[in-house]
Amino acid sequence: MTREEIRQFLEFYQDLGVKTIYRRGSSLSAPEPLPELVADLNSLLPPMAPAPAPRPTPVRAIPPAAPIMKTTVPKLLPLAPEGDSMEAIRQDIGDCKRCRLCEARNKIVFGSGNEGARLVFVGEGPGADEDASGLPFVGRAGQLLTAMIEGTASKEGITILRPDVYIANVVKCRPPENRAPMPDEMEICGQFLFRQLLAIKPKAICALGSTAAKALLGTKDGVTKLRGNWHKWQDIPVIVTYHPSYLLRPYNQNAKRESWEDLKKVLHFVYD
Ligand code: SF4
Repeated sequence: MTREEIRQFLEFYQDLGVKTIYRRGSSLSAPEPLPELVADLNSLLPPMAPAPAPRPTPVRAIPPAAPIMKTTVPKLLPLAPEGDSMEAIRQDIGDCKRCRLCEARNKIVFGSGNEGARLVFVGEGPGADEDASGLPFVGRAGQLLTAMIEGTASKEGITILRPDVYIANVVKCRPPENRAPMPDEMEICGQFLFRQLLAIKPKAICALGSTAAKALLGTKDGVTKLRGNWHKWQDIPVIVTYHPSYLLRPYNQNAKRESWEDLKKVLHFVYD
């Protein structure tokens, strides 16, 4: 076999992946490569193309981090215009269309009660009965609130009735399907509530439910965490308790007892 024939023979096997040749009769356990032939073969074969340089891994642009959505705590106007009054606020509201809640409302529910009250109750927003009548807390929840105010006051020897306090909501138009007001609605309409509170200058405020607490205290905490302690809106002490509509649910007996305690506390603070 000529050298060229050997080369072709070896090249054929090398193409098949065979790198070692055994001499006839040699042990399988002692493979004996033919280094000189392999070396010759390598020298005869065309030089291998240099390995291509590794392709740089494409650097993917890291997208900017998505902005963290924060729950908007409504910032309500801290000051009322000079010489503000309940009548001026009423006139400013007019046929208000400052937020989307105007679209489905029947009546704006401004608030009701004693405009010189020492105690103001703040709820969330009008429901169906309030939207129809234009008065706050006149439905079942309102009747419970009246019973709570007058019943607790009477038991505690405090001679006040519902008309002696003032009652208003964070938003003055009914949210559709009784949903909670949205932050922007609270921010816009809450300015009227703030002006009302500054015009009334009560000795204390009772926030009914978490929406009222959020509007007044700028907190995300729920009623369970907030109740039982005094908070402040401007310089006015605030007590937080459950919304009467929550107390109407049959399984909230414990919350009922707690809200009676809250009411006793605020009534004694204001009227003792
Ligand atoms: S909820 Fe308040 S701000 Fe919105 S439309 Fe009614 S009165 Fe105006």
